[in-house]
Amino acid sequence: MAIERTLSIIKPDATRRNLTGKINAKFEDAGLRIVAQKRIQLTPAQAGKFYEVHKDRPFYGELCEFMASGPVVVQVLQGEGAIAKNRDVMGATNPADAAAGTVRADFAESVGENSVHGSDAPDTAAAEIAYFFSGLELVG
Ligand code: ADP
Ligand code: MG
Repeated sequence: MAIERTLSIIKPDATRRNLTGKINAKFEDAGLRIVAQKRIQLTPAQAGKFYEVHKDRPFYGELCEFMASGPVVVQVLQGEGAIAKNRDVMGATNPADAAAGTVRADFAESVGENSVHGSDAPDTAAAEIAYFFSGLELVG
């Protein structure tokens, strides 16, 4: 399997509860390497642009408000099959459905406030990484 890069976000519910290190330990233990990372606070407009694909979903307004409600850690994870591996470590969107030991099973508060984001395909990974990082900021 090829070495991939994927965008990961530690969401405001998790930074608020000081869970950044515990979450990143799960990614690193799974063999993913953090090759770029910054802690920022998004505006609702910046969150809205990031989640534009969901703009017609009923939860879009709530999602943008939540993502701007506190600091997030945006980061790039690299490794063999990193896109799918990250999604495996994250667990299902709804923590009630997430497998034991996943980030969302252990830490998510609800289907909306679910602690982490991860890109879902190579094209979205490339676009999402470029939204937050320049090539110079990716140091593998
Ligand atoms: P994932 O983050 O697992 O890729 P989606 O892309 O479907 O999930 O949704 C993006 C984000 O929107 C979710 O992580 C969650 O924060 C929020 N969300 C998804 N479904 C709901 C819902 N039914 N109610 C509230 N928020 C939701
Ligand atoms: Mg998604």
